[in-house]
Amino acid sequence: MKLLRAMREPLKYVQGKGALLKFEEEMGYMGKRWLFVCSNSGYKACHDKIEQSFGDSDSYRRYEIFGGISSKGEIAKMQEIVEKDAIDAVVAVGGGSAVDTAKATAFYAGKHVVVIPTVAATDAPCTGLSVIYNDDGSFDKYLFYPTNPDAVMVDSQVIAEAPVSFLVAGMGDALGTYFEGRASIRTESPSLEGTGITRAGMALAKLCYETLRNYGSQAIAACENNVVTPALDAIIEANVYLSGVGADNVNCAAAHSFYNGLTSLGGHSAPHGSCVAFGTLVQLVLEGATKEEFEDVQGFCREVGLPTTLAELGITTDEQIHTIAKNACVPGETIHNLAGDVTPDELYAAIVQADALGKANS
Ligand SMILES: [Zn+2]
Repeated sequence: MKLLRAMREPLKYVQGKGALLKFEEEMGYMGKRWLFVCSNSGYKACHDKIEQSFGDSDSYRRYEIFGGISSKGEIAKMQEIVEKDAIDAVVAVGGGSAVDTAKATAFYAGKHVVVIPTVAATDAPCTGLSVIYNDDGSFDKYLFYPTNPDAVMVDSQVIAEAPVSFLVAGMGDALGTYFEGRASIRTESPSLEGTGITRAGMALAKLCYETLRNYGSQAIAACENNVVTPALDAIIEANVYLSGVGADNVNCAAAHSFYNGLTSLGGHSAPHGSCVAFGTLVQLVLEGATKEEFEDVQGFCREVGLPTTLAELGITTDEQIHTIAKNACVPGETIHNLAGDVTPDELYAAIVQADALGKANS
């Protein structure tokens, strides 16, 4: 039987300048007792606004500053608080680690979860999965949930005040969404959630790419000056919603495998999104994209400051490229969603060509 096509997303998505001032108004239906799992900077950026939204409400709010990773130990600690304090809803306030911890806590405790991303750097807020680590910091597993978060709320002013490098990295992660989705649908691969890909999912992925192209550089100018404009709002929506919900409902392909291959080198520090952006260029080479399409995407990377060469990712030796190519092609990697079976040899060649074109056209 053919896979059933399915579409999933957060039940509620709220975005705009000063959105947090409406936190209680928008989310209050979830209950009276709240646990906020905050990163240090997330707490500073959001606490006062969230509190203001509650006015003189007698609801219970507990803020936990969270310094770690989304490890089993941290999740167990938060779960204990949920039980002891009879919490109704868990709220993530911060970046990827806070988001993954809050999602897992709410899932195990059977409570509502709200995500308040304080950077627009990855797909984490809207997706229905978490990356879970062991207590020693090593990777444990992807934890897949039956649904996506109850709600996601983005205060555009908070994003405007975060470092612009996060916004650029988020655009890199978002850049992969359309091309990886297109590759997956060409081969009728399942979505990231394991269901058939819908036309709706593909439409979001396409809109994500168009939005990046139309508003990327303008949004950077806004963010550099800490102001919210329609262009910045467009890019926040592209990075957080269109890319997150898009990726969840289409699938990843070579661009994300390139990232996974790169992490196997260890000790690298390039942001996830920057690696995915270069990985998208590599994927286009693998797919035999025309000069026109390749240069179009490459031109966008240059325009917004995403890498077009390996040197910009800190990769300097031929041996490193071979290691990346080998590890990006292990069984189970999303690169196998591409038509035909990509071998490490073919991937190595594509990486070298994408890098050469990056050096040549710079
Ligand atoms: Zn990603």
